[in-house]
Order: sequence, then C-alpha cells, then structure tokens
Amino acid sequence: MSKEKLKLAFYWAASCGGCEIAVLDINEKILDVIQIADVVFWPVAMDVKYKDVENMPDKHIDVCFFNGGIRNSEQEHMAKLLRQKSKILVAYGACAQLGGVPGLANLSNKKEIFEKVYKQTFSTDNTSEVVPQPKVEVREGVLEIPEFYDTVHTLDQVVDVDYYVPGCPPRPEGLIYGITRIHKKIIAESGLKKAQE
Ligand code: SF4
Repeated sequence: MSKEKLKLAFYWAASCGGCEIAVLDINEKILDVIQIADVVFWPVAMDVKYKDVENMPDKHIDVCFFNGGIRNSEQEHMAKLLRQKSKILVAYGACAQLGGVPGLANLSNKKEIFEKVYKQTFSTDNTSEVVPQPKVEVREGVLEIPEFYDTVHTLDQVVDVDYYVPGCPPRPEGLIYGITRIHKKIIAESGLKKAQE
C-alpha cells in the first residue's frame, strides 16, 4: 500500500448513474478527500482509457468503488480487470451489491428483452427485425459491441468483493467515512510496519 495518498478508482457498469452523482454529492468535502486521495480512474469524470488500467501494475489502485451490476461482456471484463488492479474492491450501491433496478430485467431473458425493445414497442420501426449482434462485418471491417448477457449478475457473482456499501444510491457521508477509515487504517499499518523494521 502506498505511503502517500490513496489511489482511488470509480467505475459505472449496469447502473442508472445515480451512484456516480452520489459521489459528487460530497460537495465541498471533496477538499478533504483530495488531501488524502488521488483519483486515478473515473471514466465518467476523467479522460481515461481502459488501456490506462491495463498498463497499471497489479494492485496499483488502493480502493475501487464499483457501481452497477454485470449485464454485458464489457462490464465483466472491467470487473475482472479492476479486481486484478485493486487492493480493495467495493460493491458500491444496491445494483453492484444485489442487482438493484437492472436486476429486475432477470424476470425476462435476453431473447424476450430484444423482442420487446427492438421489435414490439409502439414506437419501433424495424421491419427488417434487426437486433444488436456482438460482431457485424461492414465494408470497413468488423464492428464489435459488448455481448448482452441473458441475466444481470451482482459484482460478487463475477469477482471477489471486499466490502459492500448499501443504498440506492449510497449516502455521500458513507463514502467520506469509508475513504477516511481506510486511509487511517493504512497509515496505522504503515507505522506499525516501520516500527517492526
Ligand atoms: Fe442507480 Fe440505485 Fe443502482 Fe446506484 S444503486 S446505480 S442509484 S439504481
């Protein structure tokens, strides 16, 4: 664990975005957070690429707050990658923890969802009955999009999770409390380690 500031990451999978807004709800407390932590990955707020995470050494991120369930192959890939690159992985919010609102889609399967969304709704104009495919060949090459899974999974159904922060969305106070406590724990551990050397 780094003896300087904490390295934090935030990621948004199958989510409504509310958990990301809840992070912004810490308002001026952000000034306290930046005293003890740097954000190294946060796609919704920073110009970062997945390659930036792939290039990090394993366990480079101290704490990753992961919100949303796992609905498609891209989200599964990122859950596994962020697990590999993070010392602590937090299932942040009801969707990551329990499936939440996206998990209600598990009342239907992929075929039923595609039938409804791409063919049957009142406003749909899709006489060719085209539905999304993971790979499509066009003149310029092969276009790829993430594979849509049959069901939504919770984060801990895909990777090991260290902590859970409940709520829809979680209270901002919980985020500040969690970051502060983890930072204090790390400082204490680092002091103990030095004393033993
Ligand atoms: Fe949105 Fe609630 Fe899920 Fe957070 S837990 S992503 S606020 S639905």
